[in-house]
Amino acid sequence: MENNQNNKKPSSELRFDLVSKDWVVIATGRARKPETFKNNGRAKEEGLEKDCPFCHIETQAPPVYIYPDDKEKWEVVVFPNKYPAFSEGNQLHERAVGPYQVMDGLGFHEVVVTRDHRQNMAQFSAQKVKLVIDAYQERYLEMMNEKHINYVSIFHNNGKEAGASMVHPHSQIIAMPVIDPDLRRSLDGSRIFFENHGSCVHCAMLEWELEEKIRIIFENDKFVVVSPFAAKVAFETRIYPKEHKAYFERIKEDEKEKLAEALQVALNKICKGLVDPAYNFFIHTSPCDGKNYDHYHWHFEILPKTSVWAGFELGTGIQISTIEPEKAAEYLRRIE
Ligand SMILES: [Zn+2]
Ligand SMILES: [Zn+2]
Repeated sequence: MENNQNNKKPSSELRFDLVSKDWVVIATGRARKPETFKNNGRAKEEGLEKDCPFCHIETQAPPVYIYPDDKEKWEVVVFPNKYPAFSEGNQLHERAVGPYQVMDGLGFHEVVVTRDHRQNMAQFSAQKVKLVIDAYQERYLEMMNEKHINYVSIFHNNGKEAGASMVHPHSQIIAMPVIDPDLRRSLDGSRIFFENHGSCVHCAMLEWELEEKIRIIFENDKFVVVSPFAAKVAFETRIYPKEHKAYFERIKEDEKEKLAEALQVALNKICKGLVDPAYNFFIHTSPCDGKNYDHYHWHFEILPKTSVWAGFELGTGIQISTIEPEKAAEYLRRIE
């Protein structure tokens, strides 16, 4: 990748919370004016194809990935985000501000766009979902070896309530110098279980789930779609490789086909069953910081926007799911 932005001011900085040990990103390059946070100042959704920048890829930065490689007939295209949360650079400046710790928001922020303006991923065929997964993997492999990159986060927001600022279906990939707190907790939990039991916590859960069957929504020979026992939100859904695998980016061709089928089925059931809800999904996989994460088991988490974080959730981190995961799974199993 070209390093033509070295002289530019980074678009963000990372600040470390001394108490919670969490990193947060503070946008500096595109910081908003305080007034724009007023409720009526929110940006409008761009609903029409003619106004949609993702329908007109010539208005975007040159693609870093395009499939097929044809400006007219492309199905999936990836380009740098116009408003990156992390931006390219050579030097990772870290500094102390009084008792605080700050570093540049160095990294990459890309957008994965599929062709059809209106067709949301839940309506894709499995073949089309696979094209998106191909793009995720290609870009992951490209970014993971870049300087200062320790984690690559792949996620998809669908619907305004889920944080999608554009109607046009798209995913995002953010490569960053730090390991995010959510993943850190997940990694730590998995490592501690491994140290105590000599086996993978996710494999232990999956073994039980596949025997009990009550929280299984769908399975094929490589992947399982399940309502987690301790779901954070109503209809939370996860997709795991059945075999123990720590690194998403090492997924093979035949596995990608099965993953595409599982993701297509899961999204389709959620969207039919809950009548087109807003949702987010993301991949949790091992960091690319050179350390060993063989204990980890990568997976997808799909979170339909079935609730909002209110005072209790924000104040305690405890989330209230308003349906039993067993009932959610039973309901989704029946949706064709
Ligand atoms: Zn569009
Ligand atoms: Zn495992």
